[in-house]
Amino acid sequence: MTAKLILGKDVSEEIYSELRQRIDSLKARGITPGLAVILVGDDPASQVYVRKKGEMCEQLGMHSEIIRMSGDSTQDQLMSKIAELNADPRINGFLVQLPLPPQMDETAVINAIAPEKDVDCFHPANVGRLLTGDPDFMPATPAGVQQMIVRSGVETSGKHVVVVGRSNIVGKPMAALMMQKGPGADATVTVVHSRTRDLPSITRQADILVVAMGRPRFITADMVKDGAVVIDVGTNRVDDPTHPKGSRLVGDVDFDAVKEKASAITPVPGGVGPMTICMLMANAVRAAERSAGDSQ
Ligand code: NDP
Repeated sequence: MTAKLILGKDVSEEIYSELRQRIDSLKARGITPGLAVILVGDDPASQVYVRKKGEMCEQLGMHSEIIRMSGDSTQDQLMSKIAELNADPRINGFLVQLPLPPQMDETAVINAIAPEKDVDCFHPANVGRLLTGDPDFMPATPAGVQQMIVRSGVETSGKHVVVVGRSNIVGKPMAALMMQKGPGADATVTVVHSRTRDLPSITRQADILVVAMGRPRFITADMVKDGAVVIDVGTNRVDDPTHPKGSRLVGDVDFDAVKEKASAITPVPGGVGPMTICMLMANAVRAAERSAGDSQ
């Protein structure tokens, strides 16, 4: 069997066209959704992510602000910028691009963001609401994975979802989403990590395997059940002398071998990647709708 490819570009385009309609209807009422990003320092990968977020706001006709702070800024300076954005009515949602320089306390920074503007869904209030099944915002990467699964027609109810990885950004919220009651969820969820014993015996039980480890091509074909749906969140840069740049991106899954066993699979690049920004935009639109008094 060669697996069907689930492509983030296709799924995100579908979602963007729905978002455009919601943005148009907000604008018809005089509201332009606004998203701000604070970037501290000059980490090259963060600069790329922040630029992409700004470009996507522009493409969608949203208001966007990028606030650049030097890498030697103090925690107090960052906190006062966060306080300004918390109070700024043009900004419906904002985020602080991570990682932060070492002099800053990431937890304190996340906790300072007003929960109703926390479009990254990292604030403990929003994480709690996700767990209790009453989320305001969706965690971007896991929600993107869920959309890929649902919009490619994969049934989740009663299925065994195995999540490899337990980070606060991907693994834990992924598990929380899939175990909820309701469409696109209702799954039986197992989370595995570096302390798990006999990991392959568990991944082989997965009807849907979501992998977020940061270990290049770790998941091999013998670790996957025939016909499983495999979602590869991992992005790892590996040396490749045949590539013009001398390196290329690979996932956490041994794609070439696993695609012969899975029923559906996401490639890297081109799989989950585009979904994270897409779901961030969805959160920003939702924040604008709520500040406009809409209940959805
Ligand atoms: P973290 O490093 O925070 O977490 C990795 C998780 O994988 C940990 O829970 C760790 O276990 C587990 N793990 C690592 N090695 C093993 C192993 N040998 N066996 C079992 N479990 C293992 O990473 P993130 O969750 O932030 O990211 C994971 C990957 O996803 C990365 O490649 C990242 O670049 C990518 N990513 C992609 C995004 C996208 O938009 N496409 C967005 C976010 C992340 P333990 O907890 O025990 O240490």
